[in-house]
Amino acid sequence: MAFEGLSERLQNAMAKMRRKGKVSETDVKEMMREVRLALLEADVNFKVVKDFVKTVSDRAVGAEVLESLSPSQQIIKIVSEELTELMGGEQSTIQMAPKAPTVVMMVGLQGAGKTTTAGKLANHLRKTQNKRPMMIAADIYRPAAIQQLETLGEQLDIPVFSMGDQVSPVEIAKQGIQKAKDEHRDFVIIDTAGRLQIDETLMAELSDIKSVANPTEIFLVVDAMTGQEAANVAASFNEQLNITGVILTKLDGDTRGGAALSIRSVTGKPIKFVGQGEKLDALEPFYPDRMANRILG
Ligand code: GDP
Repeated sequence: MAFEGLSERLQNAMAKMRRKGKVSETDVKEMMREVRLALLEADVNFKVVKDFVKTVSDRAVGAEVLESLSPSQQIIKIVSEELTELMGGEQSTIQMAPKAPTVVMMVGLQGAGKTTTAGKLANHLRKTQNKRPMMIAADIYRPAAIQQLETLGEQLDIPVFSMGDQVSPVEIAKQGIQKAKDEHRDFVIIDTAGRLQIDETLMAELSDIKSVANPTEIFLVVDAMTGQEAANVAASFNEQLNITGVILTKLDGDTRGGAALSIRSVTGKPIKFVGQGEKLDALEPFYPDRMANRILG
């Protein structure tokens, strides 16, 4: 279960605070020391932890809080609010182009779950918003990537545009989008190539696809299990491509929380969806407040 260790440690720190009638500055310091350790152990980015601890501490030792009738409750509320803020505050929904089709580009490192998530997203749009999506297979390098997307399309009964692996991804994207226009599709999801590591060739190709596809959304798909490394990957992709959002996959796995809690701060970009399993309906919008509540129990 995701965030179990972090949840437990934060809940313990909060429980200690809750037992106190009056709360002193020293109590707050002691609690924040535990919060800090819990976050670092959950693999949250060091600077993010530092800023978070400072913000919460500053708010918590305010006279109105410590001298109030229920200081411990108020402090717990502050932690909850700041955790929510750390993950982006408000929920960030998928943007739509003023004129259909809305083009969504999926980018990410190999194995992050990009292709699966393309299928999940198409399914989600059709199911929740009655959209008519189409997918484009533009990963011509990974053997079987095209086949994988086509199989997903068949399972979901959602069309997949492909031109094999001998045509450039830019050309595939261009022709795919034209086809989507001809068929009055309202969403086009482009599955692009990943690599094991970020490299210049990959970024250059993604930039080229971006130029012709003019996407409304560029979603970086990252694996939550990789912790704060996911935030570093997101920062690199963002620098090169100016992504519009992140989809965090494998949140059903044994994740510690570092990715979910670091990405927004490190990149300035919101997490828009989370993947919670291998099944094609296991994709959900990301709600920072619900996630904070889940962590704090
Ligand atoms: P790509 O290389 O980025 O296109 O990755 P794939 O889409 O092929 O996914 C790699 C593996 O991750 C596959 O086995 C997927 O089933 C799995 N996967 C993707 N998303 C999730 C998720 O949210 N939870 C779990 N448990 N597995 C996932």
